[in-house]
Amino acid sequence: MIDQDLKNGMQKIASKPIEWDCVLAPFTSFGIGGAADALVEVTGRDELCQLLSYCNKHVISWRVIGRGTNLLVSDKGFSGVVFVLGKGIAQIEIIEQSTAATVCIRVGAGCSLAKLLHWCIERSYAGLEFTAGIPGSLGGAVVMNAGAWGYEIGECIDSLSVFSEKYGVEDLARENLDFGYRIWNNQKNEEWSRVVLLADITLQCGNKETIQERCRDYSKQRKAKQPKVSRNAGSFFKNPEGDSAGRLIEASGLKEISCGGAMVSPVHANFIVNTGTATSRDVCKLMEIVMTKVKKDSGVQLIPEVHIL
Ligand SMILES: Cc1cc2nc3c(=O)[nH]c(=O)nc-3n(C[C@H](O)[C@H](O)[C@H](O)COP(=O)(O)OP(=O)(O)OC[C@H]3O[C@@H](n4cnc5c(N)ncnc54)[C@H](O)[C@@H]3O)c2cc1C
Repeated sequence: MIDQDLKNGMQKIASKPIEWDCVLAPFTSFGIGGAADALVEVTGRDELCQLLSYCNKHVISWRVIGRGTNLLVSDKGFSGVVFVLGKGIAQIEIIEQSTAATVCIRVGAGCSLAKLLHWCIERSYAGLEFTAGIPGSLGGAVVMNAGAWGYEIGECIDSLSVFSEKYGVEDLARENLDFGYRIWNNQKNEEWSRVVLLADITLQCGNKETIQERCRDYSKQRKAKQPKVSRNAGSFFKNPEGDSAGRLIEASGLKEISCGGAMVSPVHANFIVNTGTATSRDVCKLMEIVMTKVKKDSGVQLIPEVHIL
């Protein structure tokens, strides 16, 4: 619980009214989850860093989230402050037209991947087509090292501007970035947690029609393979090396099994969907059932890709 003095202190720093006791379900693609003590939409980087420092100083738990498209929020909610990044942390700017063939851009962590891709297409910049149809923000994509069709966002990043209580605002150059499969290894250790503020990305100057065609093709393939109407968080489990989680789940006969309102999608077995009434508890129970059965049948230990809050 955050007492009134601390609430007043936070509100003094925040430029927008803070939402106290705010239900998080609408901030996630699953549409599941209880309330956070506070939800703050920050409008600028300085404001975010000041608020994070305030929380750290007063031992208030916090979490920065993006569009909540890879997030399962507990039914009990989150005891602490959730930060979402507003428009002031979502700009895209050209920082260097290095050669006729490449351009370097700087993107705020709150920018949606869809907006970024649209911006690139309009200017005929190639390199991010693989993100077509991946929902979420750039910050979330960095933390998840989001990827598709053999490409990952980590490969596109030249440098990141990040904030942590221990180091303040730092610029991390490419050679110091450590991305793995659906993980950004620089984010956390026991003493600190890093927040993504900005990313510099180099793109190739290309042909608009070719770029558009590639995006259309990726989107078409995605639409054919993924559930269309239900709420979900994308692939629930990471693919084990050399195999696919969806194939293993299907081979275990788990397609369409359900737990309360949560169901293994009949369209793609690696999608757990909220059929309308799912709780976080339902999803977690279903996750356990899937992991246990797959382990028993194939010996593979599935690892969730979705982050739990
Ligand atoms: C229909 C659908 C399809 C999808 N397809 C794909 C796909 O093809 N490939 C793929 O990789 N993913 C896919 N996803 C998953 C998801 O869209 C990506 O992982 C996306 O990059 C997450 O971004 P987000 O902004 O929603 O992050 P969130 O879900 O909000 O957050 C993810 C994690 O990052 C942290 N975080 C978010 N922003 C910041 C920040 N600025 N600083 C520090 N921490 C932060 C959060 O606390 C959380 O731990 C899909 C999801 C859906 C619903």
